[in-house]
Amino acid sequence: MHPIPPYNALICRYNEIGTKGRNRIIFEEHLNYGLIRAFLKIGNVRTQIEHGRIFVFPPKGRDFFTEEECKFLRERTATIPGVSSISLGYYTEPTFEAIRKAVLDSFPAFAERFLQGYTGDVPSYAMRARRSDKGFPMTCEELERVFAELLLPQYPQFHLDLSHPDFRVEVEIRQHQAFVSYERVLGPGGLPGGTGGNLLALLSGGFDSPVACYEMMRRGCHVDYITFHSEPYTPPAYLTKVANLAKTLNQYQTRGRLVAVNLLSAQKCIRDNCKSRYRTVLYRRMMLRLATRVAQDSTNSLALLTGDNLGQVASQTLKNMAVIDRATEMLVLRPLLSFEKLHIMEIAREIQTHDISVEPIPDSCTVFAPDDPCTSSYLDAIEAEEARIPVAELLEECLAASFFLNPNTLSKYPLVSGSAGDLPVEKDE
Ligand code: ATP
Ligand code: MG
Repeated sequence: MHPIPPYNALICRYNEIGTKGRNRIIFEEHLNYGLIRAFLKIGNVRTQIEHGRIFVFPPKGRDFFTEEECKFLRERTATIPGVSSISLGYYTEPTFEAIRKAVLDSFPAFAERFLQGYTGDVPSYAMRARRSDKGFPMTCEELERVFAELLLPQYPQFHLDLSHPDFRVEVEIRQHQAFVSYERVLGPGGLPGGTGGNLLALLSGGFDSPVACYEMMRRGCHVDYITFHSEPYTPPAYLTKVANLAKTLNQYQTRGRLVAVNLLSAQKCIRDNCKSRYRTVLYRRMMLRLATRVAQDSTNSLALLTGDNLGQVASQTLKNMAVIDRATEMLVLRPLLSFEKLHIMEIAREIQTHDISVEPIPDSCTVFAPDDPCTSSYLDAIEAEEARIPVAELLEECLAASFFLNPNTLSKYPLVSGSAGDLPVEKDE
């Protein structure tokens, strides 16, 4: 069998940023940076931004990617917001001769491998040409026909099927380069990191909130995390679990920070002084107030983010959410509000948070949880309950029991106002 010639480049495609008008350059630069950062493990890859595409080349001094690097590049693609797909392939000059050589040099290796693994009746083939340089002397159809005539006589097994080919060669011709490839690996799509602003996510150990974080990262946002525990009522394993979730989510962005807050003093006070059926709503309002303080003082976030899903549990009815939101002036984003639970679980599997979330470790919500949570609260009733507890003092008490937790090393750092930028970078990062 013919060996696969080593790949000399990767082509990155993106959809939405193609439509951003004058901001397009900024979006492309963020995506370019996202690619360089994501691929850092194999060295400083070289890149070239070309109107609608970014080409990635091996680090300086090398012409080809190794097989191991290709595996890494394909796997890493799924973690780079803004990327719609990538292909490893052959970068060459935009002349018919150069394209012909690139195709003829590589086609036998790919066709043989495809045919060997093919189990259907009649294998079909097509070339897909795309020409953004209209100065190229042949049309796409002409190019596709010329190659069909060149290649198919040597591979009589193949029949031509332009609409649903089993085996496809892609040729992209641009003003300054051409690219030949035989694969497409899908990325997450959306917008590149760094283009959407900072959020603070209320991250619990469940399935939903990690997926909500991912959805907003796919819209270009940077996400920091805040989690509420109730030690010693919740086990230390809870924070380890949330740190693990944060670490997994950080694959999709640069270094999101995790803040851990002990909610126990507020929970006890609510348990002892307020009607039990309002507890969940009261806890949630305390969580939002604490998150707001951290967002404003320590993480510099523009909005809060939760994994709420309409109707899923008592605290997630419209009436309760409306009352909960009145506890803060900050915008609260709920990207999963209308998602089907099955769809959320599917995404959780794809982004590798499912197997962490599935561990049954109690979190703050289960501590003193009422048997009869109210599904329809009213602001005046809730405010009357809150009049029985020293809200401001409780906030200070909880904040005093808060810290930054490094998701990778589990080291703790004090939560001081404006301290976010000063977090030490540790060896693992
Ligand atoms: P999830 O699966 O995200 O944990 P859930 O099904 O447990 O959510 P709720 O307990 O009603 O649902 O929580 C709704 C949202 O409130 C969560 O998605 C999360 O954003 C936030 N939240 C709940 N508990 C905590 C917690 N202990 N720490 C941080 N955020 C929390
Ligand atoms: Mg939920």
